[in-house]
Amino acid sequence: MKYQKLAQLYEKISSTTKRLEKTDILSEFLKNLDEEEENLLYLLLGNIYPQYDERKIGISNQLAVKAIARATGNTPEKVTKEWKKLGDLGLVAEKLTSSKKQSTLANQIITIKKVLENLRKLPELEGKGTVDKKISLITELLTSMSPIESKYLIRTLIGDLRIGIQESTIRDALVKAFFPKTENAKKIIQLAIDKSNDLKNILKLCKTKNIKNLKNISLKIGKPIKAMLAQKVETIKEGFEAVGKPCAIEYKYDGFRLIIHKQGKKIFLFTRRLENVTKQFPEIKESIEKYVKGNSFILDAEAVGFDSKTKEYKEFQSISQRIKRKYNIEELQKKLPVELNIFDILFYNGKPILDKSLRQRIKILKQIITDKPYKIIKAKQIITDDEKTATQFYKQALQANQEGVMMKNLDAPYRPGRRVGQMVKVKPDERDYDLVITGAEYGTGKRSGVLSSFILSCRHNGKYIEVGKMSTGIKERSQLSKKGDQEVTYEKMTELLKPLIIEEKARTVKIKPKIIVTIHYQEIQISPNYESGFALRFPRFISLRPEKPLSEITTLEEIKKDFKNQKRNYQYG
Ligand code: AMP
Repeated sequence: MKYQKLAQLYEKISSTTKRLEKTDILSEFLKNLDEEEENLLYLLLGNIYPQYDERKIGISNQLAVKAIARATGNTPEKVTKEWKKLGDLGLVAEKLTSSKKQSTLANQIITIKKVLENLRKLPELEGKGTVDKKISLITELLTSMSPIESKYLIRTLIGDLRIGIQESTIRDALVKAFFPKTENAKKIIQLAIDKSNDLKNILKLCKTKNIKNLKNISLKIGKPIKAMLAQKVETIKEGFEAVGKPCAIEYKYDGFRLIIHKQGKKIFLFTRRLENVTKQFPEIKESIEKYVKGNSFILDAEAVGFDSKTKEYKEFQSISQRIKRKYNIEELQKKLPVELNIFDILFYNGKPILDKSLRQRIKILKQIITDKPYKIIKAKQIITDDEKTATQFYKQALQANQEGVMMKNLDAPYRPGRRVGQMVKVKPDERDYDLVITGAEYGTGKRSGVLSSFILSCRHNGKYIEVGKMSTGIKERSQLSKKGDQEVTYEKMTELLKPLIIEEKARTVKIKPKIIVTIHYQEIQISPNYESGFALRFPRFISLRPEKPLSEITTLEEIKKDFKNQKRNYQYG
């Protein structure tokens, strides 16, 4: 298929803001794809491989500027100037290609296959001359593309497609195209997506028009799956109402999620963002080998940091650097050791056990894990129907420096990727949110040259909408203490955010939503200044959340709910 056809689809989808219309357009398109064209399912979400695959395009705005310049015979300065004017590199590519096209004739047809072929070479390049090779691969495509094609190619490269399509739109389009009359098709397809994280594979199965093929989709060791998520409740009482009595209550550990796969001698560790972090945690790999029985399994767990001397548990913030660090691992491992707390099992000895009840899954965990404190243990848990006992346990969890408790329905299956009501979290009203940075402002005076205030956004229907501006909680370089490398300075924030700038006007910049932060706020206010309708009072930076995917940040719904509760608390003391 010609790339032109895909570009036209993108145009058509962006021409409407209505979700249903987008779904209809997409569903007609998906009905008629042949086998080779199935790959474009990846492109629809701006990827080149299945979601679980870590090879991402990873092209910076600056590199895209250079490629546009080379392909259209302009200088990078001219491209940057246009970019400032239009605010979207895709539009710049479209404009500059169209003025160039009038003077050149060479026009080769570019297929989707060719686009994917070139894009897939990008993450493989390493070493000397990489930048130049990347630019050549992109220019090769751009020089033969029409203005519209150029626009979408550039947007794909910089990860900002702007057509308003999410995984759920593709799911709905698949239902409409292949199972319009099948009961529960939406649920079944969603579950299949969450298990496989490979939309092309899902489309293949949909094309068989047999829903059983989607139901039967299985987990594969070594292929990451999304973690099951929890809803929030305010009290233990509400928790019981949500999950039933008796239920399992566990510490809500303040660490980071790890899903661990093992098959024979092979062990893989994945974060909830589906990133493979096996190399970063050799000690966990070793503990799994030593203290967990079974030839193959998938475990769900939380890794928690502790002080190697005092053995006291530490907050997530202090160990977050272990997730990203790829060098000097041994040194860091000694300095910031983690204990693995296992709370679920999804696959055991060759078979998925997602559909078994939690009660049965816990039983298996008890049979296979030998607890070794400060290495690997089963999550602390009680099973009770008594509110007093539960409250006591909740207090105990907080005293142990953990975040609160999780309450879990004992009869429920495991549902990957879903925020399900059968698992709820109870934590003190801490007023913390996980938000994404979508804008910033350069500072003045001692902070000139660095970004010093940050626009925070929450999630709403797959979009990111502003809820406030944060400028405190981040350190000045001069304030760095001895544990300096763990602290976040304005310089560090600037370094992280600069490559993500999509638009720049005077001191204000727009930023591609990628960097997630936990912030603490004092109060939620109604505000006409932000699209969300709310503004957070005094948001203060707490930590970076590199392990969280965008799909799991605080939603507008949650903020609305908290706003209501806040009012209730004011009224009733
Ligand atoms: P939140 O990130 O606030 O939505 O809370 C859900 C997170 O709590 C999960 O993704 C886990 O990383 C973490 N967690 C800590 N302890 C547990 C536990 N015992 N069961 C399930 N999740 C837990």
